[in-house]
Amino acid sequence: SEKQLQHSEQLSVIGELAAGVAHEIRNPLTSLKGFIQLISHESKEASTYQEIMTSELERINLIVNELLLLAKPKEADYESKHLLSLVKTVVTIANTQAILYNIQIKLVYNEEIDKVYIECEENKLKQVFLNVLKNAIEAMEKEGDIYIKFKKLGDRIIMQFIDEGPGISKDKLANLGKRFYTTKQDGTGLGLMISKNIVREHKGDMDITSEVGVGTKVEISLPLKSSSS
Ligand code: ADP
Ligand code: MG
Repeated sequence: SEKQLQHSEQLSVIGELAAGVAHEIRNPLTSLKGFIQLISHESKEASTYQEIMTSELERINLIVNELLLLAKPKEADYESKHLLSLVKTVVTIANTQAILYNIQIKLVYNEEIDKVYIECEENKLKQVFLNVLKNAIEAMEKEGDIYIKFKKLGDRIIMQFIDEGPGISKDKLANLGKRFYTTKQDGTGLGLMISKNIVREHKGDMDITSEVGVGTKVEISLPLKSSSS
């Protein structure tokens, strides 16, 4: 619809702006970090301040890096990719963190799913799956399973990321994906917002449901490439 189009245009303008600003912030950040390290530790206070400055800079750096991912999509970067291979690559990366908590990431799919290709910007989609998996791991923080389930529904593929974390209460659920909303000590609150934008750029949908004490389910639906439907 007209309104959706307007919204997606607004998002890409915001994305372009954010990426531009983020890029400009990076250079002065690097030089600040360098100079802070050069200041000598004259007193105990000075070295404490130095540590605080460095950790605050790290935080700015983290936010800037996430903002850079908002860059405007270029049509030319879309390519047909084998979905399962893409997901498996991401799982390999997420496993380096999952292993520390004894968390298993399990894929559930049939032969039909193995034939699915999607038109996508590979790196951006990987970022989405990684954000969602990282959130699941960070929520669980102890041993358990994360399931990734796949379903074909008409001309769409539905992916479900199901965790056994503490879940999210109804009143908090509405805040997810809002800019800077985080409940973590060193979270940025940008992961879900960026992920939602990327999924929308791919003409997909992202939906989160949760039950306190049971876990959280992130559902992502994406259009199938016409030849695989
Ligand atoms: P960040 O991970 O930096 O906090 P996100 O946008 O990725 O930012 O997530 C925002 C918030 O949503 C998290 O801080 C957390 O409170 C909540 N959240 C996201 N995924 C889950 C999950 N799987 N289980 C419980 N809470 C979650
Ligand atoms: Mg996150």
